[in-house]
Amino acid sequence: MKRHFSSRELFVLRNHIPIDTLIETHLMLPSKFSEGYFRFLCPLCNEFQTATKAKTNLARCFRCERNFNTIDMVIICKGLRFVEGVNYLKTILNNCG
Ligand SMILES: [Zn+2]
Repeated sequence: MKRHFSSRELFVLRNHIPIDTLIETHLMLPSKFSEGYFRFLCPLCNEFQTATKAKTNLARCFRCERNFNTIDMVIICKGLRFVEGVNYLKTILNNCG
C-alpha cells in the first residue's frame, strides 16, 4: 500500500470527488435535501444540522462547528487511518474515471 502522497494527489482527492456523492453513495450516511441544502446525519453527533458546499467541496456540521473534507469524512465514517482513507478515495476516483 502506498504511504506517501503528493499534495497534488491529495488536492485531487479532496476536490474531484463530490462530497454529496461520497456521503450518499459511498459512505451511505442517511441524507436528505432540505431548504435547498444537502444534509447528512453527522457521524460525530448524529444530528442533521449539516450542509455541504459544492464550491469548496466541504461538509459542515453546525452543531459540532466542524468542516469535513472528503478525507476527513472517510476517516471518521470508516474508522480508517489517514493512509487507508486516502487509498479508499483513490479507489473511488479510479472507478469514476
Ligand atoms: Zn455534528
